Amino acid sequence: MKKHSLKNISLAMLFGMTTFLSCNKNEKAATEAQDQETAQTPIPDPEAGTESTAVAARVASPVPGYTVTYPFGVKNPNYAAGYHTGDDYAAPTGAKVVAVLDGTIAWSNNNGGAYGRWIGLRATNGRDYVYCHLSVRSVSTGTKVVAGQKIGEVGATGNVTGPHLHFEDRPKGGGYGQVRKPTW
Ligand SMILES: [Zn+2]
Repeated sequence: MKKHSLKNISLAMLFGMTTFLSCNKNEKAATEAQDQETAQTPIPDPEAGTESTAVAARVASPVPGYTVTYPFGVKNPNYAAGYHTGDDYAAPTGAKVVAVLDGTIAWSNNNGGAYGRWIGLRATNGRDYVYCHLSVRSVSTGTKVVAGQKIGEVGATGNVTGPHLHFEDRPKGGGYGQVRKPTW
């Protein structure tokens, strides 16, 4: 019996030291890491694979994000026709202009005179849409385009007081003054 008493005391001391040193500070960090992993799990898209059946949205403006700032039809003796022959969209030089309908570029050149660099879009509805005062022309004559496609950039070429798109709606092959309120 005397032999065992010393051994029992030293075991008790060792057990006490182990308990004192035991401490786990990593438990919270491990939980947070698991939460992040859960948040990154991709959610299945029920609409996936149905995009090809969607109908293209109507183009709201020939200068996306910008609205008419000076409308068609305002009487003004400064114009040869006596009135404003298109809708103006004031926008910064470089703002993109887009085809309002599918069609073919009937002309694209720098010879618009007072209209500066200009483009004519012969649309599938039989109308010519005229884009004037451009800084950049992105398409050439004969190019087929689709509604919403970029064809150039707003500018201040020709007779202007500031950068804007002057936008006309003419019958196919129509000249200056053969216009209606732009509709598409
Ligand atoms: Zn104008």
